Amino acid sequence: MSQLLPPSIDRHAHLEGSLDPAWVREQAAREGKVPPDTLEALWRGETIPFEGFIPAFFFSCGFLRSAAAVREILRAAVRRLAPAEEDLPRGLDLWVSPHYLCVHEKLLTLEELWRGMDEGIAEARPQGVEVAVIIDAVNHFGIQHGHAVLDLVLGERPPWVVGFSTGGIEGVPFREWAPVFDRARRAGLRLAAHAGENGPGTNVREAILEAGVSRIVHGVHAAAHPEILELLAERKIPVDVCLTSNRALVPDLGPHPLPRMLRAGVRCALGTDDPGVMPCDIPGEWKAAQALGLTPEELVSLRRHAVEDAWCYTAPGAV
Ligand SMILES: [Zn+2]
Repeated sequence: MSQLLPPSIDRHAHLEGSLDPAWVREQAAREGKVPPDTLEALWRGETIPFEGFIPAFFFSCGFLRSAAAVREILRAAVRRLAPAEEDLPRGLDLWVSPHYLCVHEKLLTLEELWRGMDEGIAEARPQGVEVAVIIDAVNHFGIQHGHAVLDLVLGERPPWVVGFSTGGIEGVPFREWAPVFDRARRAGLRLAAHAGENGPGTNVREAILEAGVSRIVHGVHAAAHPEILELLAERKIPVDVCLTSNRALVPDLGPHPLPRMLRAGVRCALGTDDPGVMPCDIPGEWKAAQALGLTPEELVSLRRHAVEDAWCYTAPGAV
């Protein structure tokens, strides 16, 4: 039965989406600000359209203004992992949008952001938790924004920055993003993309074939396309699946396609996405996965992929 313990790695979480709701509420009250209705709805576990998520997410991370606040988020992320009950490695693949935080919103300096993350990562390591960081650009801000993100981070980047990704609304086609992804790849970063979440499943194919990404976040709409599931399986592309987030933000999804994806041979693993905005943790996501009727063998695969494909353990520079 020990095989059925939760995975020990959170494969997808955003720093900006991980602020504790009580803390955000306290900061907002102190400044006379009222959380948007969409954020209140998400905190209650309700489903909202993706367009409503963006302002909720930005309101929440608007309080991310110091290295100390960043370090606190890392501490909370470590607490949300399953306890170290076995010899399995524990870890976190963490997405962050430095351009949004430090240039677009000027909430803190890049030096403060990196320092807070560095301190949080250094604190996590003695607890047996490795962290890899993936730089996230906002798809719907367009490719000039993508280049600006790379201009910001490609200089003297910390050793734990291992990847580049796009997130947000899948509004700009991946073929247009290809030059940005190519530049990130040439600089030594691994490539991922949020695709097939708020956009069609065909975005998953385009991200892989035209932008060269080697990892997909969500990808749930690809489940309607057997040939895209086949592509994911054949190329062994890891897919980070976030059940609570998908339930909240993908209203047209129906029953979650995770079982179908696993049965097609896709290397899915679980992530929390924005555990401060849509409260959840990996043990809870594991219970939700079990409730989908996966076989013990499928659950074991789900857990094994979490470790085998995690960039915190497999990326160059990672331990
Ligand atoms: Zn995400």
